[in-house]
Amino acid sequence: MNTKHVYLDHAATTPLDEEVMASMLPYFNSIYGNPSSVHYFGQKAEDARETSREKIAAILNCHPSEIIFTSCGTESDNLALRGTAMAARKLRNANHLLITPVEHHAVSHTASQLAALFGYEVETLAVDEYGQVILEDLENKIRKDTFLVSVIYANNEIGSVSNLSVIGEICRGKGVPLHSDAVQAGAHLPLDVQSLNLDLMSLGAHKFYGPKGIGVLYLRNGVDLYPAQTGGAQEGGLRAGTSNIPYIVGMAKALEIAQARLDTEYHQKIIAQRDRIIGTVLEEIPDAKLTGDPIKRMPNHASFVFKNLESNNLLILLDQAGFACSSASACKTGNPAPSDVLKALEIEPDWIRGSLRVTLGKDTENEDINRFLSILPDIVQKARLVE
Ligand SMILES: *Cc1c(COP(=O)(O)O)cnc(C)c1O
Repeated sequence: MNTKHVYLDHAATTPLDEEVMASMLPYFNSIYGNPSSVHYFGQKAEDARETSREKIAAILNCHPSEIIFTSCGTESDNLALRGTAMAARKLRNANHLLITPVEHHAVSHTASQLAALFGYEVETLAVDEYGQVILEDLENKIRKDTFLVSVIYANNEIGSVSNLSVIGEICRGKGVPLHSDAVQAGAHLPLDVQSLNLDLMSLGAHKFYGPKGIGVLYLRNGVDLYPAQTGGAQEGGLRAGTSNIPYIVGMAKALEIAQARLDTEYHQKIIAQRDRIIGTVLEEIPDAKLTGDPIKRMPNHASFVFKNLESNNLLILLDQAGFACSSASACKTGNPAPSDVLKALEIEPDWIRGSLRVTLGKDTENEDINRFLSILPDIVQKARLVE
């Protein structure tokens, strides 16, 4: 049988845009200089890097000197937490970090390591049933020695979108910088750091149709951060290592294209597709619940839990039917443990193992969604019967 494979896992990664790939190619072999070199070849590479930095800064509404190129979203999160932790301890003996219980592991595991190995005090903010920070708790937990608050912008597992501008206002009122893991937001949400009231923000290119292995950390001028990777003087001395010019060029191009798409009918199309999935699942499948915020949610993100179901069984049956989806679980084989995010939402034990995440992209067609929704109810029933 010749099954058409439909990709509904854009929160995991996105395909490289053709136009992005074309923009990268010259920088692999014809414009190959090291931007740190003084000669012609180096200058050409430096020009490309700095033009890309300006393009990204324009989208983020910040100064180009506030853009740090990293190797991925994970590295940006690591640098945000570890870099501010080191600086805060050294400069003013501040050791208190606030995060949410619904962070990506790039944030939560970095925070755990800061606590376990280096004695930082990490506290977790209370969240509501949708994973949204409870503002009163934030007000109460921020202290004079809090060096950073980190709140995910768009949740990769449950699709909730945080109200960063309000959270940022509270942090600013207390003089504490706010970081956000905005890796999921790049393709779908505005990234203006001024209206979001952010002081640090992480992005990763492969979530917005750019190449894997390149990212950005926005760092507001005046926020203290020490480099976690030391060596050369690249990135203002904050992130050493020879710049990856083709990837930087590709990331800037991809971000421009993705952000320009927000104002087009694409946005309405994807929201309609998402809402059709959510509506159909909740209507036609017994014992199904939406996870995450029903209103403040990612335009391309539908996520659920089903009672009495093991998500891997569902994913395998869906894959056999030609649909690539994912779940909110910690590993790919055996009996995966429910994710930390779902655990934080206090989902009942007989629901928490049955998660499903369907994330749409720019090439998702209505016809694919029709076929998906026509088979899903039966497949959920079948998956429930697997021992
Ligand atoms: C994908 C993702 C990351 C990790 O980004 P990489 O570029 O893959 O390292 C971090 N946070 C969130 C929310 C993500 O979705």
